[in-house]
Amino acid sequence: MARAPAEIPDVVVIGGGIAGLTAAHALRDRDVVLLEAADRAGGRIFSERRGENWLNFGAHVFGGEHSSSGQLLRELGVRAEAVPGRLAAVSLNGKLVSTGPVESFPFRLPMSLRSRAALVRTGLRLRLAVRAYAKIAAPRDGENPAARQQRMLEFMDDRSFAEFSGVVPEDVDLLFRSTLTRSSGEPEELAAGYGVGYFHLVWDRKGGLSRNILGGSGVVIDALAAALGDRVRLGARATSVTRVASGVRVEIEGAEPIEAKAAIVATPAYTTREIVSDLPTDTAAALGAIPYGPYVVGSILTSETAAMPWDDIYALATPKRSFSMLFNTTNVRRAGEAARLPGGSFMVYAAADFARRLEHLDDAAIEAAFLADLHAVLPATRGIVEEVVIKRWNAGLPFPRVGRAALQERLTRSLAPIWLAGDYLGTWYTETAVQTALAAAAGARALVTGPDRI
Ligand SMILES: Cc1cc2nc3c(=O)[nH]c(=O)nc-3n(C[C@H](O)[C@H](O)[C@H](O)COP(=O)(O)OP(=O)(O)OC[C@H]3O[C@@H](n4cnc5c(N)ncnc54)[C@H](O)[C@@H]3O)c2cc1C
Repeated sequence: MARAPAEIPDVVVIGGGIAGLTAAHALRDRDVVLLEAADRAGGRIFSERRGENWLNFGAHVFGGEHSSSGQLLRELGVRAEAVPGRLAAVSLNGKLVSTGPVESFPFRLPMSLRSRAALVRTGLRLRLAVRAYAKIAAPRDGENPAARQQRMLEFMDDRSFAEFSGVVPEDVDLLFRSTLTRSSGEPEELAAGYGVGYFHLVWDRKGGLSRNILGGSGVVIDALAAALGDRVRLGARATSVTRVASGVRVEIEGAEPIEAKAAIVATPAYTTREIVSDLPTDTAAALGAIPYGPYVVGSILTSETAAMPWDDIYALATPKRSFSMLFNTTNVRRAGEAARLPGGSFMVYAAADFARRLEHLDDAAIEAAFLADLHAVLPATRGIVEEVVIKRWNAGLPFPRVGRAALQERLTRSLAPIWLAGDYLGTWYTETAVQTALAAAAGARALVTGPDRI
């Protein structure tokens, strides 16, 4: 026989990543409970302070001031600044190029004539495609974020990025691959439009993901958790979410169940599919069709006391190394400093197949490989590394495969009194997580208060 519920709040939120926390925050004037399975909130947003510096393990760049996440940061009093420094530096075949226009890179990176010609050709096609994507992705007056998202998903959704770029020489392939696998998918797996959109997302200083949070990404999680107080329950793993006559019933591992008028399920797609009972068959199938790829992250604390050659670089692609990207994560501190403050930190990572190649190694071996390559790429890092933390994300990011646009209606249709939220519902990561959380909270509020009292 089912146990009687211990309490009946208005809304139960499942998952304490940025999506779940944002939804609960938007409903904080109601009786809301948030269940988080882990012993910390934040999910894939995770950073740790080290004095004035911080180590970052997950999301690091956030949407602009006018985005939904930008507005959330402002409301919470969390300071975010435009990322200072180059967003597209490259270290290839022993040379680091971090200045001048990207169009000049094919002529300045050491590579064969054939590779140079291919890089110019493919680079040009990519720039044109990014321009077309930018038009598609631009917000239109009066439209809701869901309509804009659908347009972005439909852009070049009929072929993979590898089919779009064609066969290119190894140096060119690895150069694009190191940036594209930031999405945790390989170019052969990613829808072409999404791959193109990825370059737009990380290169676009105005509309893309290009702001850092001072003090580390965890600051926004701490602010949300503090505002929610004891409404957040850590170590509370939901095992099922079922519709009942009065609303929703949530079973929790090792604890009393909760019944609520509405539920917001803000867990990753694969968990949502597992725990939400009686989903429409095609919605369950769509949730199951969202792939996630792995990451192996190295967070590295440094102790320099003077200006460093990388101070003006934020993102560095490092093809042919054990990690494929390097981020100068505390670079944002440099923006306001009168004199160079001591110390800094990097986040390096391998993603998708680059991460799978490291999976069999233990953390010490990965640390050794990352440090050897760090010193090779940025020789002045020798002797200043204070601490290295390796963090593995088996399911780092959801990415759109070819045909992803057709799943959108199945993922976003009404399931009231249950709403879904999370980054997998779109293509803008933390921004999608926040947008879908706010939409879910608005839906749940309407149900709980009645349409006249929203
Ligand atoms: C290395 C890395 C770098 C990234 N960089 C960026 C970046 O720079 N910019 C950007 O915008 N995005 C970035 N992302 C992606 C970003 O982190 C995610 O898009 C975002 O954090 C997703 O938030 P979410 O709330 O949807 O999901 P999550 O953060 O995954 O939150 C889901 C939560 O649900 C909890 N949960 C799971 N199952 C249960 C259960 N049964 N019961 C209760 N709770 C449960 C989980 O523990 C988790 O806390 C990055 C991700 C990684 C891994």
